[in-house]
Amino acid sequence: MVSKSQLAIILSKLKLFTTHSLHLEQYGTPSEIAADLLWQVDFSDRNIAGKTICDLGCGTGILGIGALILGAKKVFFVDTDEEAISVLLENIRTVEKQEGIKYSYEIIKGDVQNMTPIQAEVVVCNPPFGTKAKHADREFLGFATKCAPYVYSFHKTVTLDYLKDWCDSKGYDMIIITNYNFELKATQEFHTRKIHRIEVSSIRIKKG
Ligand code: SAH
Repeated sequence: MVSKSQLAIILSKLKLFTTHSLHLEQYGTPSEIAADLLWQVDFSDRNIAGKTICDLGCGTGILGIGALILGAKKVFFVDTDEEAISVLLENIRTVEKQEGIKYSYEIIKGDVQNMTPIQAEVVVCNPPFGTKAKHADREFLGFATKCAPYVYSFHKTVTLDYLKDWCDSKGYDMIIITNYNFELKATQEFHTRKIHRIEVSSIRIKKG
């Protein structure tokens, strides 16, 4: 059984995006924050070990791979970007080798806007924040809630009121788990600062 800091160290060694699509809002979750959320989901809600998890908008896989390390029964990795998926596969193989375990997983290339919902028990995701593609965050959550009764997700803290209203309108229960400062490294030419910090919160949405 790994500790939270051991998990963060393993996740910090994963390969990151080789290119960053602006439209798809690709930025990886910092490893310590990924480990922190997964740890809380496993420890407080018992929603990782033994569960079928869907990592939606998985990118290079930090959340889903973390879930596998914590004993998830199976992880569905979903992303629309082929390059991210090839890095993801490399990351899974590296961790399997390192840990001496064969994990149960499925990789699905798909767009949340037009795919059949995955049948899982829990969704974990760090979706696009909807900064570039308007409402992308809500579209992700709409799809996520079709895949599983529990959704754990990261959002810009300033959007939480709006998300809470959306959850209320659907009859879903939403709680804020933790507030973080995400450090986003400059990935685009027009970024003027090397590191940009934004306030991000992890939330849990529970259906019915
Ligand atoms: N979950 C990863 C990556 C977060 S970045 C992490 O936590 O590090 C957001 C991811 O969502 C990117 O990999 C991007 O390719 C994916 N994405 C964006 N729009 C999508 C869509 N419509 N359908 C599926 N994946 C999408």
